[in-house]
Amino acid sequence: MDLKALIRDVPDFPKPGILFKDITTLLRDPAGLKHLIDVLAEKCAPLKPDYIVGMESRGFIVGTPLACQMGVGFVPIRKPGKLPAAVYGVDYELEYGTDRLEVHQDAMPKGSRVLIVDDLIATGGTAAATGELINKIGCELVGYAFAIELKDLAGRNKLPAVPVITVLDY
Ligand code: AMP
Repeated sequence: MDLKALIRDVPDFPKPGILFKDITTLLRDPAGLKHLIDVLAEKCAPLKPDYIVGMESRGFIVGTPLACQMGVGFVPIRKPGKLPAAVYGVDYELEYGTDRLEVHQDAMPKGSRVLIVDDLIATGGTAAATGELINKIGCELVGYAFAIELKDLAGRNKLPAVPVITVLDY
């Protein structure tokens, strides 16, 4: 199945010079959505995660059905001030300025095997910061999975030495 045909390129969004990979056109296609999750689940199975962790907000969209399919739980990583219980946070660099992500301190039992999932890896900053949060809560990062990788940006070079699984490369 040609998943790339279901992804829409939107030039100059959210700012000039960025070619935005719009997955809403894939998500609305029932066969496309199912195929994406099936392929991710098959590729990720050997990593044997106990939990899937997804970042706000497109990591929720891809990570939750993947967790369901793989028979494991889902844990959200959120922007500041959104999680109700005690959190750990990590600040990370953006192109201009910094951003922050948070996780519940008791999100998963210590030592849990964690797979981090997002829709897309660009510079890798978001994924690397999420990896730091997994370390902070005493869990074991077993890999990353992305629907899309923008290879020219070499984001995977920012990640720790664990398997990085992708479905569509650009
Ligand atoms: P990065 O931290 O640079 O790897 O950026 C990753 C996050 O930004 C992901 O959650 C993506 O959803 C989003 N993102 C970055 N670049 C793009 C792009 N060209 N098209 C769509 N989403 C993007």
